[in-house]
Amino acid sequence: MRVLLTGGSGFLGAHCVDCLLRGGHSVVFTVRSKEKGERILGNYPTVSSNGLSYVIVEDIAKEDAFDTAVKSNPPFEAVLHTASPYHFRITDPKTDLLDPAIFGTIGILKSIKKNAPTVKRVAITSSFAAMVTVKAHPKIYDESMWNNVTWDEALHTDVYTAWRSSKTFAEKAAWEFFEKEKPNFQISTINPPLVFGPVVHYFNGMDNINTSNERIRDMIQGKMKEKLAPTGIFIWVDVRDVALAHVRAIEISEAAGQRFLCTAGFYSNAEIANVIKKNFPDLKEKLPASYESDLDINHKPFDVDNSRSKEVLRLKYKPIEESITDTVKSLLGIAMS
Ligand code: NDP
Repeated sequence: MRVLLTGGSGFLGAHCVDCLLRGGHSVVFTVRSKEKGERILGNYPTVSSNGLSYVIVEDIAKEDAFDTAVKSNPPFEAVLHTASPYHFRITDPKTDLLDPAIFGTIGILKSIKKNAPTVKRVAITSSFAAMVTVKAHPKIYDESMWNNVTWDEALHTDVYTAWRSSKTFAEKAAWEFFEKEKPNFQISTINPPLVFGPVVHYFNGMDNINTSNERIRDMIQGKMKEKLAPTGIFIWVDVRDVALAHVRAIEISEAAGQRFLCTAGFYSNAEIANVIKKNFPDLKEKLPASYESDLDINHKPFDVDNSRSKEVLRLKYKPIEESITDTVKSLLGIAMS
């Protein structure tokens, strides 16, 4: 298939490029600048411009931002929409998080409907954030769950609530668009929790590492030497599994019209530290000598049902040891370069 991927410079976007190319698809990715586009292309010296190219979309929040990007010759058959802000360095929750997430999602769907009639399948990166009810967890999370945050809470609580709201409202907007507009294409959403994994993307140094790998960077830099930070959200998934979920979501017909809770299960910061100590003995001194896990596996705060992702998308989730080891290796490679 010929596929448009938004957010090619992102942590997840880079793995989607890899996964699409491995699956034999031809890819056009969006980036905000020529410099980013050229740097990413530089990672694939043997792929021709028919197989991989980029188009610039400076700001996904702008009206009609994708109108030109969705046009291609040969035309696109599928779209992966991963671009959305995931960081907490904001000054205004609306303009920095909510608008790009929501307008970006509605914008790409509108542009496809208007200018790309050959597109049949669209996979959108949503999040577990669009499912979680932080004030009172259900016994078990599955794809029927929605975050019930209000617009007022989104704007006036804290930056974390604002980010979770941005993913919630963006996903809701996508399904509403689908219901109301009855477009010529089917949509699927991928809802991962915290994503770990090797950094293969456009990288601007350890200080600017993607948000979800920050705790691993902090551990190997000794920032948690005195005490491990609280784990926070206890479920995770490897970025390569999330990328594969997106690609399978456009390839497998039964995936159309479905949400997918993509998680490998539970972890804690103590478990990450254990993996680092075991596999990178030189880094032992960067971590506390002893600590206790803040996850009691017999009294988990909730449970998760990832069966749909395993049955429909045929995902087999990577274990935490492999994911953390590969992440640290990638970060050490970067730190040394
Ligand atoms: P990154 O920050 O690495 O990637 C975000 C991507 O979106 C980048 O390519 C970024 O471009 C692009 N982007 C953000 N805002 C804009 C904008 N206004 N205009 C144009 N492009 C924009 O994060 P991830 O790779 O982790 O996130 C990818 C997706 O996965 C997002 O939708 C995120 O919400 C979702 N997600 C991630 C999770 C995680 O733990 N990592 C968990 C759940 C969901 P640029 O690099 O130029 O800023």
